[in-house]
Amino acid sequence: MRNICILGSTGSIGENTLDVVSRHPDLFRVRALTAHTQIEKLAKQCQQYLPDIAVVANATYAEKLKNLLTNSSTKVLHGNEGLIEAVMHLEVDTVMAAIVGAAGLLPTLEAAKAGKRILLANKEALVMSGQILMDMVALSGAELLPIDSEHNAIYQCLPQMKNAHQHEIAELLLTASGGPFLNRSMETLDRVTPEEACAHPNWVMGKKISVDSSTMMNKGLELIEAMWLFQMPAQKIQIVIHPQSVIHSLVRYVDGSLLAQLGEPDMRIPIAYGLGWPNRITSGAKQLNMMELGQLNFMKADLQRFPAIRLARDAAILKGTSPAILNAANEEAVESFLTGAIGYTQIIQIVEKVLEKINSEVATSLEHVLEIDRLARQTAQQFIRECSR
Ligand code: NAD
Ligand code: MG
Repeated sequence: MRNICILGSTGSIGENTLDVVSRHPDLFRVRALTAHTQIEKLAKQCQQYLPDIAVVANATYAEKLKNLLTNSSTKVLHGNEGLIEAVMHLEVDTVMAAIVGAAGLLPTLEAAKAGKRILLANKEALVMSGQILMDMVALSGAELLPIDSEHNAIYQCLPQMKNAHQHEIAELLLTASGGPFLNRSMETLDRVTPEEACAHPNWVMGKKISVDSSTMMNKGLELIEAMWLFQMPAQKIQIVIHPQSVIHSLVRYVDGSLLAQLGEPDMRIPIAYGLGWPNRITSGAKQLNMMELGQLNFMKADLQRFPAIRLARDAAILKGTSPAILNAANEEAVESFLTGAIGYTQIIQIVEKVLEKINSEVATSLEHVLEIDRLARQTAQQFIRECSR
């Protein structure tokens, strides 16, 4: 029996995780659930899964949740301290890190420090902290299992029994659907609305990652994520457009073998893999029907259309604080696009300006990374104000 804490249980990954968990009541027990502001949804989850702890954004939301959970033994906490208490809960051995954005960094690092099994969906946490999180995992003996479908696919294609496989790998190939604007005329991109940007052709996801998928910043963040997870130089990670989202990623070996993981585009597959590891459990996803598929297509990513890939690759090569700057600027710009303050093509323009303005430094500590994150957000906000004028 594994005891689970789900950070971000009301989100797309959080709900998919609960879906898989509820198929295996003999294998999993939910000990802690966290949400930000969706109190009613969290209350329903608490009534169904009876966690020891529930966490929300602040004291006001905590009061609201308590009012909805009368006669419940669930302890209601709030803020960062609450998130940290949830992952540190002695009964919890597995933490699903599924908060979106930088807000997930601190609890994920705490889970690593405490030596828990971390199922990592929150790519922004690893992009920001890079070596710091990887070192903490190595030091504490925590287990880090990738949930992002591409990284989960690569993990499945890597040899599981030995560590020294780096020299046997020629390259990692991250597949990308290309998102909703793969074929849209470039002249009309500045008129893209939040609804259009969030309408992903193959996946249903939260708004932030949906916008990132449309600009392909998501693939850029994933390139940086892969670099850290698999300790591979950015130069050995390629991006391949594959519009059907059936091959989730590939590993090319020096002998000419190319291993891929295939499946329906359903996040319950990588989630079940992480929850069940090292065993396989059912996920609720459909089996892939290859006869119905007929054909699979592949093409090069167009860097003119998707400049985010170039920015992310440069940041990956520079390392240091560059990935944190890229991530923070992108989070601010995407949020401003979703609220209507800036236009679609301005998202990546702002990220580029912020990267030009702030020099990359060696990332010395978590405090340093958090300070750079704040600076990058302030700088992005200045550019956003200039755009909205
Ligand atoms: P979502 O927006 O659907 O859910 C986000 C969750 O985080 C919610 O539970 C919300 O309450 C919580 N949250 C938001 N802001 C918070 C804050 N400031 N403090 C605490 N909690 C906060 O997002 P999602 O699509 O589920 O994505 C979650 C993470 O997983 C992201 O990092 C994303 O990149 C990654 N991911 C998602 C998918 C997918 O298919 N959705 C696939 C791969 C990776
Ligand atoms: Mg992904």
